[in-house]
Amino acid sequence: MKIKTIHQDLKVYSSIDELEAYERDLISKAISFLDLSYAPYSKFHVATALLLENDEVISGANQENASYPLCLCAERVALHHAAMRHPGVKIKLMALTARNEDRTDLGPIPPCGACRQVIAEYQEILDCKIRILMKGDQPEILELSSIEQVLPLGFNSDFLQSS
Ligand SMILES: [Zn+2]
Repeated sequence: MKIKTIHQDLKVYSSIDELEAYERDLISKAISFLDLSYAPYSKFHVATALLLENDEVISGANQENASYPLCLCAERVALHHAAMRHPGVKIKLMALTARNEDRTDLGPIPPCGACRQVIAEYQEILDCKIRILMKGDQPEILELSSIEQVLPLGFNSDFLQSS
């Protein structure tokens, strides 16, 4: 037996001022998309802005339902939205933000496990790494260079191929 170590270095910015102008702009757009969130049950609003290779910006916000399992996360709304409007166009950057109606001290919000899996699939489909910037209420911003940083040993279509 041996130990396999998985190590990741994540970038942490102390404030939005450390980002490039286009990155700040995408985070601002994500924050504005929070108004598109439908979260009457959780009161937890999440929004995503995707910057595509063709410079289009795609919105996404969480959409809840009284039948809870039907709720859809902001990331998946945005990714499917991009796939419909701009099929095959690579995603350069994802900005992700959230607002909890009962708190004002959220740190960076990471994608849930289901969205990590879906982001990984879009990276595979589009043959690109999707960089992700996450920001909550706090000034701190967390960056993932790709979803593998928070989805090590991920499942993908390679396992479904015949040998
Ligand atoms: Zn999710």
